[in-house]
Amino acid sequence: MDIVVASNNAKKRKEIQSILGALGIKLVATEDTIFVDVIEDADSFAGNAGKKAEAFARANGKPALADDSGLCVDALGGAPGIYSARFAGADATDADNNNKLLSELSRQSDRHARFVCSLHLAFADGRSGMVADGFVEGEIMLQPSGSSGFGYDPLFFSPELGKVFAEASPEQKASVSHRGRALRKLADKLQQSGLV
Ligand code: IMP
Repeated sequence: MDIVVASNNAKKRKEIQSILGALGIKLVATEDTIFVDVIEDADSFAGNAGKKAEAFARANGKPALADDSGLCVDALGGAPGIYSARFAGADATDADNNNKLLSELSRQSDRHARFVCSLHLAFADGRSGMVADGFVEGEIMLQPSGSSGFGYDPLFFSPELGKVFAEASPEQKASVSHRGRALRKLADKLQQSGLV
């Protein structure tokens, strides 16, 4: 079964491709994928993942896997959550979002946060989709460090790795990340159902 990766975010797509590729799951190459602009207006990670996966499956006529993910910070009541990509505004860069996060937490001693990932694999023939989710706990640093990964990785300290995500190799990040955990769960479900 060839799976389309339903994401316009090149760095996220690369993470998904390398984790699933290592698990032996075949993905449609980026240049052979028909991309769709999906309005992410659902009120949950799972709702947005479902919307993206279904739109890409319809457009490509193939199974499509979407990831909706974000950072939930306790001291901010779970924000930015589903608004993580546009925390500092519609055209915000990762640096803008990180700066806003640091300023919102400037007077906070509780810096606990969690990355959340909701996956949805939609089928083009209308069969009901397959879902999986993953979480990782961490702390928001006082300043960014490291240069790998994307998004809030330079601020997210993982106690499990003993370092900030942006200082970890892709393999180290994938071994504990919300996305790595969710993808491994989904791969198990696919294997159990005999689809791969
Ligand atoms: P989405 O593409 O709408 O799911 O937005 C996800 C946003 O959440 C990204 O733009 C990042 O800001 C943040 N995010 C999700 N996963 C990660 C990650 O693995 N590292 C850092 N930031 C992430």
